[in-house]
Amino acid sequence: MVEHPDFDLFVIGAGSGGVRAARIAAGHGARVGICEESRVGGTCVIRGCVPKKLLVYGAEFSKAFSQASGYGWSIGQTEFDWAELIKNKNKEIDRLNGIYLDLLKNAGVELFEGRGRLVDPHTVVIGEHTIRAKKILIAVGGRPRELDIEGHQWAISSDEALDLPTLPRKILIVGAGYIAVEFAGIFNGLGVDVTLAYRGDKILRGFDHDVQDALERALIQQGISILYQCTPEKITKTNEGLSVFLDGEASGVFDQVLFATGRVPYTWDMGLEAAGVRTDEFGAIVVDEYSQTSQPSIYAVGDVTNRVNLTPVALMEGHAFADTVFGGRDRAVTHENIPAAVFSQPPVASVGLSEHEARDQGHRLRLFKSSFMPMKYTLSGGGQRGLMKLVVDADTDQVLGVHIVGPDAPEILQGFAVAVRAGLTKADFDRTLGIHPTAAEELVTLREVTHEDLK
Ligand code: NDP
Repeated sequence: MVEHPDFDLFVIGAGSGGVRAARIAAGHGARVGICEESRVGGTCVIRGCVPKKLLVYGAEFSKAFSQASGYGWSIGQTEFDWAELIKNKNKEIDRLNGIYLDLLKNAGVELFEGRGRLVDPHTVVIGEHTIRAKKILIAVGGRPRELDIEGHQWAISSDEALDLPTLPRKILIVGAGYIAVEFAGIFNGLGVDVTLAYRGDKILRGFDHDVQDALERALIQQGISILYQCTPEKITKTNEGLSVFLDGEASGVFDQVLFATGRVPYTWDMGLEAAGVRTDEFGAIVVDEYSQTSQPSIYAVGDVTNRVNLTPVALMEGHAFADTVFGGRDRAVTHENIPAAVFSQPPVASVGLSEHEARDQGHRLRLFKSSFMPMKYTLSGGGQRGLMKLVVDADTDQVLGVHIVGPDAPEILQGFAVAVRAGLTKADFDRTLGIHPTAAEELVTLREVTHEDLK
């Protein structure tokens, strides 16, 4: 037991997971404090999901303008003002930051500004404040991973990409994961010449192979260059711009180089060892299904634990922690059937198992696929083909996975995630009437088995 604690719970990091946990714990009657070294709201609100999606909306207008003529519109000269978009985006982020501050205030959570460091299992130091708490929650998220190459200081991360003073004419994006393909779409839509450089041979590693192929085709069709088996070795700054070296030779000059090479848990220099908190080989805090660390008084949620690095997962983990520790209701978290979306152009959304995951798990499979041209593009031209795919267990008829590439994929998938979570069968899908004419109806009208794998 800790004597004379200042708080029942002290949370380090006021992002999605930390704020949710703080509010719920306070609602259960705990005295809660929280600290934040940057801005309340965290990665998702301040420099991730939200500003990114606003830029995606901004980038989509160029296509809408060029396709409008098929519907009879004449659009005169259009002009784009990057500074205006960034200014308006920042205004919205300020508004959301205010809402998060109010949420904490209204819940009675005391906020401390500054970086929290652990001194022992019950003590956090923030600047000149020393705080004692019965329980501590670490929710400090992750930070962009930099490539350790010569000239890396000339490259930017997604943090800076969201606030560039001017729009580049030509950009090299390194990586081919979520952030890389999302920013490829943003910059391409805004007229920037975009090249992706990826060390592997298929974008979006881990996604269903048909999804990877469909998105790759769509990106290339829109003029994005993809270099496979390719990692920059050196960046030099010249009068013309940033010269990037591959295989010992200068292979191109760009205005910007964006490292979209993953994110790492932000665990350095925060006193974890002193407090007896174990980390893994990637620096992530090791936790059990109740988000408890190796030190019983300390818990951790969100990206810092490197389980599934998505906002709704951090929210779920933070909420479950608060219910378990302060609400008298044990809630273990599981990480199955988590729907995911990539806000590329066109967007991607998936839930459940990919074809290869299902096969690796020993399922005998029936696959249903449809490649389609969204109706909107019939008059306008200029669209990319979409994909709908169902991965079905051949023995039980259960739908194991749903995968979509195409307009509104994330919006469509959310409802189907309920069906997959509920363990519904292909027959249940077939019994459901479609909504006509939509793209989503494809998912309940896929009758022909595209491929059977009954081995
Ligand atoms: P990802 O893990 O998705 O992608 C990282 C990319 O960088 C991969 O292509 C990876 O290659 C490559 N890479 C990693 N290390 C190196 C290296 N040393 N040299 C060259 N290439 C490298 O991470 P992101 O940065 O795109 O995003 C971080 C996380 O944030 C995501 O995993 C996701 O959880 C979350 N996120 C979610 C979003 C959403 O929900 N829409 C949007 C943005 C981010 P390889 O495939 O070979 O490992």
